[in-house]
Amino acid sequence: MTVYNLGSINADRFYRVPHLPQPGETLAAAAHFSGLGGKGANQSVAAALAGAEVVHIGAVGADGGWMVDLLNGYGVGTRHIAVKPAPSGHAIITVDDQGENAIVLYPGANRTVEEEQVTKALAEAGRGDWLMMQNETNCQVEAALSARERGAKVAYSAAPFDPEAVRAVTPLIDLLILNEVEAAQLETGAQGMSTLRTIITKGAAGAVFLEQGKAPVEVPAFAVPVVDTTGAGDTFAGYTVAALAQGMDVPQALRQASAAAALMVQRKGTAEAIPTLPEVHRFLG
Ligand code: ADP
Repeated sequence: MTVYNLGSINADRFYRVPHLPQPGETLAAAAHFSGLGGKGANQSVAAALAGAEVVHIGAVGADGGWMVDLLNGYGVGTRHIAVKPAPSGHAIITVDDQGENAIVLYPGANRTVEEEQVTKALAEAGRGDWLMMQNETNCQVEAALSARERGAKVAYSAAPFDPEAVRAVTPLIDLLILNEVEAAQLETGAQGMSTLRTIITKGAAGAVFLEQGKAPVEVPAFAVPVVDTTGAGDTFAGYTVAALAQGMDVPQALRQASAAAALMVQRKGTAEAIPTLPEVHRFLG
């Protein structure tokens, strides 16, 4: 079964600075590196490493070929990534000596995904396949409609949180994935989520799976020494959907996802820090 992922592809550009820049200040960075990031790309890499066949739907600019090559290297299908006349999405991430960060995110090509591109990609989908989406591209509603028309299931991470996008997409999905902050925003915002299958991730406190009329399934986090939690939620989501697409039951899928995220938070970086399935199996013993 295939996981189609309509998602962002960003260059993460990290700058190590003595303190976060003040208004008007010019600051020399002590170190710099670039890596593949973006919620969509991270989730595609996680799902592919979890053993699913993954097809990414998205867009980069002419400067984004290296990111498409990296996705290919992780085994992600890239034939539905368009190259657009816009700069690739990128994040300027300043990190100070205390590990505090400030981020400027430029969506760029991620926001140029077109309906025709999405419907063409999802014309290949069928029953048993999954569509994943987040809020860093456009065309989520069109994608969900196309996927449903073909009998595919839809998982949606409501991140970054956007009440209007959530309101439009929620009636069209099978699985909603939120972190605690997003869950609180949803409760105070647009609508309840009682009719949906929902996963709420709670950082070091684990995750919970909610389904109407059933007892909540609590998924403990593993106690590990934490280095960098960036992308933990994406790893968890990618691993979960990949496992569900491969027919695993929910508690088992979530335990495996929790292990994958526990390995990820012990490493620096985003896509390059996501563990492989054999690593996850070794961790689980
Ligand atoms: P997000 O990155 O979207 O904010 P969370 O912080 O809720 O997501 O993390 C997602 C999952 O990653 C958690 O449910 C948990 O399984 C795992 N995780 C996150 N932080 C830790 C941690 N400090 N120790 C162990 N596991 C963690």
